[in-house]
Amino acid sequence: MRSYAERLAEFAWMMRTIAQQNASLEHHSLLGIGGMTDVLVFAGCEEELLAALAQAWQLELPVRVFGGLTNCLLPAAPLHGVTILNRMSELYFEEGYRLRVAGGTSVARVAREAVRRGWDGLTWATGLPGTVGGMVVNNAGAFGGTTADLLLSAEIVSPDGIKTVNAEWFNFQYRSSRLKAHNAAECEIVLRATFQLREGEPAQLQARAAGYKQRRWQTQPPGRSLGSVFANPPGDYAGRLIEAAGLKGVRRGDVMISPQHANFFINQGQGTAADYLELIRLAQTEVERQFGLWLELEIEII
Ligand SMILES: Cc1cc2nc3c(=O)[nH]c(=O)nc-3n(C[C@H](O)[C@H](O)[C@H](O)COP(=O)(O)OP(=O)(O)OC[C@H]3O[C@@H](n4cnc5c(N)ncnc54)[C@H](O)[C@@H]3O)c2cc1C
Repeated sequence: MRSYAERLAEFAWMMRTIAQQNASLEHHSLLGIGGMTDVLVFAGCEEELLAALAQAWQLELPVRVFGGLTNCLLPAAPLHGVTILNRMSELYFEEGYRLRVAGGTSVARVAREAVRRGWDGLTWATGLPGTVGGMVVNNAGAFGGTTADLLLSAEIVSPDGIKTVNAEWFNFQYRSSRLKAHNAAECEIVLRATFQLREGEPAQLQARAAGYKQRRWQTQPPGRSLGSVFANPPGDYAGRLIEAAGLKGVRRGDVMISPQHANFFINQGQGTAADYLELIRLAQTEVERQFGLWLELEIEII
């Protein structure tokens, strides 16, 4: 068996048009926090994504696919192996109000196009950051809508090939699915997803989308964040509990618990993963001490 360094070098050579060795992830994460990765691949289409995955699997290199990196706290330590940023963007409006989209397509774009056509169902996703792959993995949702309500089927790539699975396969739970926190060694990647939408009225959908956008602007703080850090516990709000624990505006280094919405932690410039993790621990322990409730993470710590 060849050494890890040799296999990595072969991968980088084979994928040289779309891969960078020893690349920083910092500027690719919405939060602006991230260390290095051995090889970073930008997969802009199906051929590139499948070739990079096949090559990494064949060389037995650890591989991980991300979309917009809007929901993951990346470590300061290097991410070993191959990191793929999925930029494969496709959008097909098919018969029977079925919308087939590639995993790297921007969710905001999908929602916008569906609204424009008068296809109802995904309006809640207006302004949702990230890609369709991350949305499916996280069972993203907002304003009463969730991904699980709409997903009909998905094409999954694994070392065994491409298979089509139905929504049940994902075992969707609140902001989670069987693919969340997946072991990098047994990768299953969302290549495409098909959503079942329904007929709507464009003007009405546009008005609803504008309302959702406005609510995001009013309630969510601007700046570099990962959205809601913690899942809402049943019958309550993580933000309300963190605020009640007196933690609004508390800082560790350059990361701050937003004074506007306590479930958002903002990187104010030079924040680090250690700062962010310290605030997570602080919020969990203070909320537990004061209210006897342990907050579970909604974001993913890589
Ligand atoms: C300001 C802000 C507001 C937000 N508001 C909401 C909200 O209202 N509701 C909500 O649910 N979320 C919200 N989020 C969280 C986030 O936008 C969503 O969870 C989004 O769907 C994540 O997509 P992503 O492409 O960025 O995923 P990433 O962060 O890149 O990845 C998330 C996980 O999915 C995996 N993954 C990504 N693509 C694939 C793929 N193609 N195949 C297999 N695995 C894949 C990654 O490995 C990782 O495990 C918000 C985030 C921010 C920053």
